Amino acid sequence: MAIEKHKTVVLYPSLGVGHLNPMVELAKVFLSRGVAVIIAVVDSPDAMARLATTNPDITFRHLPVPLTGRDQQYSHPIMRTIDVLRAASPALRGFLRGQVPAVDALVVDMFCTDALDVAAELGVPAYFFFTSALADLAVMLHLPYNFPAASLKDVPEAVLRFPGVPPIRAMDMATTVQDRESDIARARLRQCARMPEARGFLVNTFDWLEARALKALRCGLCTPGRPTPPVYCIGPLVLPGNTDGSGERHACLEWLDTQPSRSVVFLSFGSMGIFSEAQLREIASGLENSGHMFLWVVRNPPEHQSKSIEPDMEALLPEGFLERTRERGYVMKNWAPQMEVLQHDAVGAFVTHCGWNSALEGIVSGVLMICWPLYSEQRMNKVHMVEEMKVGVVMEGYEEELVKAEELEAKVRLVMESEEGNKLRERLVVAKEMAVDALKEGGGSSDVAFDQFLRGL
Ligand code: UDP
Repeated sequence: MAIEKHKTVVLYPSLGVGHLNPMVELAKVFLSRGVAVIIAVVDSPDAMARLATTNPDITFRHLPVPLTGRDQQYSHPIMRTIDVLRAASPALRGFLRGQVPAVDALVVDMFCTDALDVAAELGVPAYFFFTSALADLAVMLHLPYNFPAASLKDVPEAVLRFPGVPPIRAMDMATTVQDRESDIARARLRQCARMPEARGFLVNTFDWLEARALKALRCGLCTPGRPTPPVYCIGPLVLPGNTDGSGERHACLEWLDTQPSRSVVFLSFGSMGIFSEAQLREIASGLENSGHMFLWVVRNPPEHQSKSIEPDMEALLPEGFLERTRERGYVMKNWAPQMEVLQHDAVGAFVTHCGWNSALEGIVSGVLMICWPLYSEQRMNKVHMVEEMKVGVVMEGYEEELVKAEELEAKVRLVMESEEGNKLRERLVVAKEMAVDALKEGGGSSDVAFDQFLRGL
């Protein structure tokens, strides 16, 4: 679709590289349609500089916000994020005021609610870029009006129902809203209640994957007294592989080259997932007993973090484990080139913490997932992935202190050996094709949705 060249949007990510990266992927979509993009960044100056070098068509602007003195007095890390973003409002206002001609839209991520006030004051249309599942958005839009009388943590087995979303046990709701009296729950509920003030939602998902949630949101079922703003499913936007800029192929990929097709179980738990030493040992035993190949990203347990972030594998893992599994296991410290690993033909299953980027990366790679949620909204994602999307199976016991080796072994065997695993894998083949279809130029659902969004600018 031809779009006039002169449109400009400002993208406003929350704090941290994890929020900046998806905005860069969104910026590329705008650029591909001839829309100029400025990303206004509050923190992460190093990452911003690196991304500016590799993406010369995107303009990056650093918004000066006094960050010092904004540490340590917060009850939850997200409270700091909310506070810093509030403190950034004057800088954002000044920056937007200085744009001549005025920008056509401000696109903010889900923690940037204060930016709605700035946009309203300046008459700039504001949109959210929502980087979790659409089903999570459906939950969040309802939550302020559909919250149980008790705190969720006091009624863990209570079942919550939201239009377009499978029933969710209270214990599987986002960790931030478990204690309704906490600062963080109050802050998040206030933010959720304000989300419909936006002109619309760009969501990193695709119609086929979340048809039921999309239908419910389009029926306007969400917020009493206020119509649901339009929802545009424009994904899956996933980071390209090889993001470390070295251009070198990682040794783990060379190792995968030597393994048979779909023979390896990949275990990776997002940017922050860490386990206790006891849990690492259970995982090791489960992997060993399963008899399957594995590629496992290991981080130092919390109890050892003060000494070093580098895990001492020999000391942490069961005695002789590394030696015994040398032929069929590859254990990595802290970080793997996840997207490239998932895209490798040798990978047959993915044990994931259910962060939405990881979930999408698994889906676009057609890899069946074993869902082991850890924190944040990951338990909700697990519900959507297992019960609605049917792209994974659940790791039982994730809500207990320890997932047992036997459970890990059973789930690895289920996805790698069983008829049920084969059936589920067929679904992943379809999901992968549908993800590609969604992005097809000139007719894919996400392509069409983005055009619709642009027409409304
Ligand atoms: N990631 C990676 N290597 C790792 C762990 C994570 O490349 O060893 C990437 C992963 O591909 C994804 C992102 O980090 O793009 C994690 O995002 P997600 O939403 O899954 O989880 P979060 O880190 O936000 O909990």
